[in-house]
Amino acid sequence: MKPLSLLFALAAGFGVVSNSAMAQNGIERFYVLYCGEIALNDMGRFSPGFTGPGTLSDTCYLIKHRQGWLLWDTGLGDAVADKPEGQKSNAGVWYNKKKLSAQLAEIGVKPSDIRYLALSHSHGDHVGNVDMFLQSTLLVQKAEYDWPGPNNTPRFNPAMKVMKADGDHDVFGDGSVTLISTPGHSPGHQCLLVKLPRTGALLLSGDAVHTKANWDLKRAPEQNFNHAQSIATLDRMAAVLREHNAALWIGHEPSEVAQRKYAPAYYE
Ligand SMILES: [Zn+2]
Repeated sequence: MKPLSLLFALAAGFGVVSNSAMAQNGIERFYVLYCGEIALNDMGRFSPGFTGPGTLSDTCYLIKHRQGWLLWDTGLGDAVADKPEGQKSNAGVWYNKKKLSAQLAEIGVKPSDIRYLALSHSHGDHVGNVDMFLQSTLLVQKAEYDWPGPNNTPRFNPAMKVMKADGDHDVFGDGSVTLISTPGHSPGHQCLLVKLPRTGALLLSGDAVHTKANWDLKRAPEQNFNHAQSIATLDRMAAVLREHNAALWIGHEPSEVAQRKYAPAYYE
């Protein structure tokens, strides 16, 4: 082979390698969505050690994957945005300054475009807009799905298509988006491991961790469904972060969320 054709062969070979490497990860865009704010009467209920009032942010995330759109959590309901004085909850007041539907519209996404609706768990500040996505397939842990709701009512709309995971689950089969089982805050709580081609790997916390202080000091709220399991879950999360060289993104931590770029900007 002449040196020049060898060069072409090498170049073509490298081209094949990089194309196939890209084909392994189908994520095209990753959006951070504002999903409300929670004013707490007693921050210590969620972040042990704190006293007095505090604020938690509420964050949802949207993934554009080659195989379809995936929404992670739905935040406080859009109905809360129609109440400027906020909506009272058992721990404080919910505020919503920008509707999820408006943020989706801004980037040209209809609720019916969402193929997968993955939920960290079934608490009110994460499922406020689920009814907007009745055509999507729910991705939840079986333990959360089967957990009886108040007055023994189902926590999820039985008419919705659902994939009940029993542990970790690779959503698209390419390792780019994985449900990570992290029980404790609720029986079937899960985190989401997202491997972004340019930004790197992220672990979306859900409520396995509410604040950076909880993470740094390895603390969990006493009111969690299972406190010991919550602490064990922190170890599991640390192992996942190490294994995948991932960054932890805590959706309820206002100081972290302030550093993110919100939709319509996006990460790749
Ligand atoms: Zn929450």
